[in-house]
Amino acid sequence: MRKSTCLVLLGFFAFAPFSPGQDLSETAFRQALLDLGNNLRLLCVAAHPDDEDGATLALHRYKYGVKTYALIATRGEGGQNEIGPELYEDLAALRTREMQAAAAITGAELRFLDLPDFGYSKTIEETHAIWGETETLRRVVRKIREIRPHVIITHHGREKDHGHHQAIGKAVIDGFDLAGDATAFPEQFAEGLETWRPSRLYIRAWTPGPDSVTLDLAKLESLRGMTYAEITAKALEAHASQGMSFFIERYLSGRPKAHYDLVRQVRDAATGNEDVAGPLFAGLPAGVHPAHRRLAESRASRPEALDALLPLVASDSDETFAKKAARAAVCAAELRIEAHAEDPVVIPGQAVRIQADLRDFGRHDATSVTFACAWGGAEEIPDPFTVSVQEGAAAWECMLSTPRDMGTGEAEARVVAHVMCAGGAVPMESTVRVEVAPATRIEFAGAPYLARKDGDRVVRCDLLCTNHASAAREDVVRIEAPEGWSADVAEHPLRFDHEDQQWAFTVTLRLPESVAEGVYEVRARARDGVDAVAARVSVVDVALPKTRGIGLIENRGTGVSPVSQHGQDAHATPDVTLRATLERLGLPYTLITRRDFHPETLDRYDTIIVDMRAYQYRPDLIANNNAVLEYVRRGGALIVMYQKTFEWRPTFSPYPIHVSRNRVTREDAPITHLAPEHPLFHAPNAIRPDDWDGWVHERGLYFPDRWDAAYTPLIACSDPEEDIPPGSCLVARHGDGLYVYTALAWYRQLRELHPGALCLFANLLALR
Ligand SMILES: [Zn+2]
Repeated sequence: MRKSTCLVLLGFFAFAPFSPGQDLSETAFRQALLDLGNNLRLLCVAAHPDDEDGATLALHRYKYGVKTYALIATRGEGGQNEIGPELYEDLAALRTREMQAAAAITGAELRFLDLPDFGYSKTIEETHAIWGETETLRRVVRKIREIRPHVIITHHGREKDHGHHQAIGKAVIDGFDLAGDATAFPEQFAEGLETWRPSRLYIRAWTPGPDSVTLDLAKLESLRGMTYAEITAKALEAHASQGMSFFIERYLSGRPKAHYDLVRQVRDAATGNEDVAGPLFAGLPAGVHPAHRRLAESRASRPEALDALLPLVASDSDETFAKKAARAAVCAAELRIEAHAEDPVVIPGQAVRIQADLRDFGRHDATSVTFACAWGGAEEIPDPFTVSVQEGAAAWECMLSTPRDMGTGEAEARVVAHVMCAGGAVPMESTVRVEVAPATRIEFAGAPYLARKDGDRVVRCDLLCTNHASAAREDVVRIEAPEGWSADVAEHPLRFDHEDQQWAFTVTLRLPESVAEGVYEVRARARDGVDAVAARVSVVDVALPKTRGIGLIENRGTGVSPVSQHGQDAHATPDVTLRATLERLGLPYTLITRRDFHPETLDRYDTIIVDMRAYQYRPDLIANNNAVLEYVRRGGALIVMYQKTFEWRPTFSPYPIHVSRNRVTREDAPITHLAPEHPLFHAPNAIRPDDWDGWVHERGLYFPDRWDAAYTPLIACSDPEEDIPPGSCLVARHGDGLYVYTALAWYRQLRELHPGALCLFANLLALR
């Protein structure tokens, strides 16, 4: 596919228009010089994206030129999503991009431990049971040995906190003690790592003690024209899927400070009296030659700096320092290389044309450039080629072949260049991202599929096939139905005239008479493809409620005027789980927009569902809430999914409900039906104990803890050794209708097509 590289990059670097190596601004130049002033490194360790101490990282990098790292334990896939429907792996990918954007703003280099985020954990013991205490420590020690920080900071380590936070807090303290111990994790030395003893470890304190070190975050960073707190606020905005408005406001009000308590220090850490990087580094030597400190603090012009930098680039005594000098020299000489792939989507075995351009925007000091290109990870870069630079420009291209055995997915090519410039050589590099795709890409649209055991025994699968090869070609897609099932299409021929052409077709699967409840798989395989593509088909024994229609008030995006609510994007995509579930069940539904809150419109529906968090994102719902309650009084059934504590008001319900932060994180927590005779447990589906087995992630969150006596609580459930009020499902009669508030984690179960949850959901829709 020839997608616009420019657009892809804009999406990726939405917060940093150029990758760091390409930014030639005065700010970037001054920063590159400042970075030469010391060889100190600061590491911030955090459990999730958004837990990093962004202001402290920004302050050390931008004020002192300290090399800064953010080490994040997880990708944050266990959380909720404030801006779109992505969960799990998709949320991990989204939060990785957000974290990259945040790190680009605070100037930190980003690393991950890639521990799984399995959702909120109440204890360190549970987290250790899943992560492994030793494995967590092994990964932290490895990163300390790789990064070799002088100072480590974290804000984890307190009891009474998320279990992930507690586990990372403990691993950071233990890792500090063990990274310098040659007997700890010795297998890491075989990979070329060495022991490393950091000098100090600080834990962030929310209230300062007598010995706390305090950093003033309200100081102006003059190059960027923002305070460190404002830089952090900008970085927090990048974590949009986590809805950071509350924390952003806190950073921007008053005189924000960060306090740290020293919890570890090696004995000989503070021998000097140097103060090159602020109080966290007090007494630690800069680790560079005094002449380099003077250069870092000078106001040298770019030409002056270039003359001073070229000898440093060539010095091979300290590789890190030479790299920093090269980075500054690129800025000083005003050099840029841009590289891109002519066709950024290729198939295995296809060669990709890589084009690279050098531009010298400065005094045209560059005379020649030697280019070479290889796949990332390749040890040797073959076939260097030298081009002379004419009037400040040089161009080069090469064909890079994609090995036939290269797996599909994202691949990176590296273009390296050595620029002869003002009598010295400056190394530069640019990365080109390429997607390696199968010749025919097959997608099952709308998967996973649902079939009702006693429904019409037919499943329609829509397939979409895309040609990624560069030429016209033919292919055949073969369908493999589950054993005993029949498909109306066994083979579907495809004739592609050009690259990127798509063909859509439908396969109808017929279930056998005797089909059992369970999960099945339909597969499609292209003749030219290596791997089959599979889609899940769940057969569920669920009876449907009789309904004239269902009104759905989604949480984002529907009919809302584009006003920004507390910094949230009103255009954000709604979670479509409920919509998809109703479609899969074949139940009629209509989305309720801000124009639809008239009695005549609302009364068309037997049931109206208010999706989770809708009161946060739908000002039209708040404005028309009385109309919704009147609908109930006239005889409608209203089902309200969970809303967060701060976005809920007791007046939203006909009788007061107080929403707490109670949550049940164990997906297997025992369930008690408090009113076993209630129709929720009987019609049209009889709910059995095993309907509660195999739930995913959690039982639910933001359970009410107090409610008016008009409500009947239907379900009790608590995590082990807790006894929280049974607020997960409350029902009350109101006039002629019914009001239901349910904080169970419906959206997580329904997107899994969990049979028990589907039966309960069908019963919810039958309540009158
Ligand atoms: Zn966290």
